[in-house]
Amino acid sequence: MAKQHALQTTDERERALLAAYAMFSSQSRGRRYEEPDHPYRSAFQRDRDRIVHSAAYRRLSGKMQVFTGDMGDYHRTRLTHTQEVASIARTMGRALRLNEDLVEALALFHDIGHPPFGHAGEDALAECLAENGGFSHNQYALTLAEELETRHQSFHGLNLTREVLEGQATRVDKQSSGIQPLLEAQVVEAADSMTYDAHDVDDALKLGLVTLEEVHEQDMIRICVEIINQRGLNLGPSEYIRALIHTMVDCQVTNVLENAGPFLEQAAWISHDDVRQSDYRIGTVGELAEAKRAMEAFLYERVYRHPELIKTRERAQSQIHALFDTFVANPDPLPERFKDRIDVVGLHRSVGDYIAGMTDRFFEQQFIGFVV
Ligand code: MG
Repeated sequence: MAKQHALQTTDERERALLAAYAMFSSQSRGRRYEEPDHPYRSAFQRDRDRIVHSAAYRRLSGKMQVFTGDMGDYHRTRLTHTQEVASIARTMGRALRLNEDLVEALALFHDIGHPPFGHAGEDALAECLAENGGFSHNQYALTLAEELETRHQSFHGLNLTREVLEGQATRVDKQSSGIQPLLEAQVVEAADSMTYDAHDVDDALKLGLVTLEEVHEQDMIRICVEIINQRGLNLGPSEYIRALIHTMVDCQVTNVLENAGPFLEQAAWISHDDVRQSDYRIGTVGELAEAKRAMEAFLYERVYRHPELIKTRERAQSQIHALFDTFVANPDPLPERFKDRIDVVGLHRSVGDYIAGMTDRFFEQQFIGFVV
């Protein structure tokens, strides 16, 4: 009798808990360099652990999300954003009976390739490397995972499963790769946008870049206020903002689950192969999806283009150009492995890869040391 409920192996557990359309660990197409199975961790758990133990992951704590470190210590960093995405994606993944280990690995990995200074840094590096193939943080995540991170003497990279690398590859090229993302990758994508919408509103309110009155004009917030009022709670001002931010995430997760759940049930897919052949995408739908788009347009106009952020952006961009040009003119200060890499990927790319790996603070030290 007891044996029936033991669920001792990964496969037993996944067969009992996951839906047929989930990506089972036993169906993984493996790793570039073959490795024996681990006695008690699934392939995707090992991916997650490799990501968490990588230097690039740790450095996310020193990289800005939207607001720089000198603006305070309340707002999100790239690391806390990543953790919020993982938490929300796992909630949806579990509710839809997907492979939570794969969801978590993909979520923790999704922003690992962000250079210093967020999208401003990314745009600056793309300009620096315009003649040499450009720069994208999604592509750089793959470079980190396959070339720059080391965990084993006999090969470069983290040797992640093909499913995690492919999930990231669909972020690089959403259209033309011809690969439809697994549902595990789709919930991470959905969680990412819900997360930044909500935390950027929270951070912008806290930093005084937008007012509560302005935010209240947004349909997304109107929907949330209605939900909060229905609960009939008597909230103080800061409790009220917390409730608002929480409800923004909660109503979107509910919207996704209420739509994706029944859809997946009626689709009756029997394996992840069916997922790959469908153009169905998990995401918010209906009135809420429209409100979300409007909210994102508002954030773009009022927060991401706020004079305070434009100033940071312009400073970061000119500093990245300056440090890049300095290292291209004289690569001597580069660490040995980036000097060696010049022969493999060329001077410009190796300098770009080195700068992209830096935290905001380390970048500033390098800028002061070599440019100023
Ligand atoms: Mg993200």
